Amino acid sequence: MPIVISDTLTGTKRELVSIEPGKIRFYACGPTVYDSAHVGHGRSYVVWDLVVRHLRARGYDVRYVRNFTDVDDKIIRRANERGEDPVKLAARFAHEFDEDMDALGNLRPDVAPKVSEHIPQIVAMIATLVEKGFAYAAANGDVYYSVRAFPDYGRLAKRNLDDLLSGARVDPGEAKRDPLDFALWKAAKPGEPSWDSPWGRGRPGWHIECSAMTLAHLGVPIDLHGGGKDLVFPHHTNEIAQSAAAVGDGRTAESFCRSWMHHGFVEIDNEKMSKSLGNFFTLRDVLEKFDPEAVRLFYLGTHYRNPINYSDAILAEAERRLNYFYETLEKVDAISEGTSPAGEGGAVVDTARRALDDDFNAPQVLAALAEAFTAANALADRKGKKAPEDRARLAAFARDVREVGTTLGLVQRRPAEALRAIRAKAAARRGIDPAAVEARLVERAEARKARDFARGDAIRDALLAEGVAIMDGPQGTTWKVE
Ligand SMILES: [Zn+2]
Repeated sequence: MPIVISDTLTGTKRELVSIEPGKIRFYACGPTVYDSAHVGHGRSYVVWDLVVRHLRARGYDVRYVRNFTDVDDKIIRRANERGEDPVKLAARFAHEFDEDMDALGNLRPDVAPKVSEHIPQIVAMIATLVEKGFAYAAANGDVYYSVRAFPDYGRLAKRNLDDLLSGARVDPGEAKRDPLDFALWKAAKPGEPSWDSPWGRGRPGWHIECSAMTLAHLGVPIDLHGGGKDLVFPHHTNEIAQSAAAVGDGRTAESFCRSWMHHGFVEIDNEKMSKSLGNFFTLRDVLEKFDPEAVRLFYLGTHYRNPINYSDAILAEAERRLNYFYETLEKVDAISEGTSPAGEGGAVVDTARRALDDDFNAPQVLAALAEAFTAANALADRKGKKAPEDRARLAAFARDVREVGTTLGLVQRRPAEALRAIRAKAAARRGIDPAAVEARLVERAEARKARDFARGDAIRDALLAEGVAIMDGPQGTTWKVE
């Protein structure tokens, strides 16, 4: 069965065909590290992580490159405001970004190149573009890409030059020959980091970095390139123009990259979450408040191309679902301990693979998992001693959902640990102190031992009024946040 993706370049759903059999060279645009990552960034890299995990699970040798933009106007502005070195400020936020991505369970890319460490490659690519007549140096030391020199310009965005011209302008201080042209190299200004080049000291424009780093770490052409929908124009459009001109055939977008995937945004009240609109939550704050795996489950609950609406209530619901997954697994593991699973990989594994083969349809995988969990609970909760074949079925369920979970990056923790961690987050949100709850459970146990059941019930009711539900079981009393 082929893997099918929604390819932005052709505007069709089509088979992902790799240039070299069994190998996928994948590039995802990375963050501009001038501040903490927000919930929108988290979605982006969970999406690419799912793509990489699934392609690997399907046997592809995937090389995943994701850059860090650490030389940029926003970084320079922020660093100057704080009197800090821009490259150092960016390094600090890049480190923080890695921590956030680890917390979300994203695999690290194979290479995470930084602009500041690729200036020679960037300068070399610009020199090639000038040499081939696709770029020109202005008298002030800027270098521009000559958009009209590349015949396939605008194809990814489905826009022609006349279309684009209506929105284009030349800003004061820019030395473009044509309003459509864009900067590859910007002459040094006071208070900005700069590097030597054949055109004098300066720094790279934004778009050229991805072209240079793709070439440096993957070679050209590549199989697959990803980013948010907002990157289609101008960023990806310009990446194509640069790379196809410098190292491709100079005429077609495919000579840089064969397929393009773009994801939708995280929204709040139907508006894109972004720094510039000021309606964002940092990932740090959200990961502090909710279990990180619940945040991941929230992202995967919507198809990557569609917008997701963010709210605390929706996150809390995802956390409850995750809790239910782990409660079920804990129960099923206890029942099926020491039992060999029945048969080969079950229906849920097949369904999940087919759903992900079809444009990475994670919500459909989650729907299949929900059904499997319902069936497993029904079987586990059935009264009476379990027949050996029922235990084997439950063991198969636990094996299969964990296998599907490897591709999704879900349910890989030990249930007891996960449940404790989830409970701690829920308790903190409600202002409940777990140690105080434990102390009152001891008090209740003592009351019950002394046959003071009224006192025991009073403690239970008081806890419930605070949002703590207690469950008496054969292994003693446990509690959870309602
Ligand atoms: Zn990029």
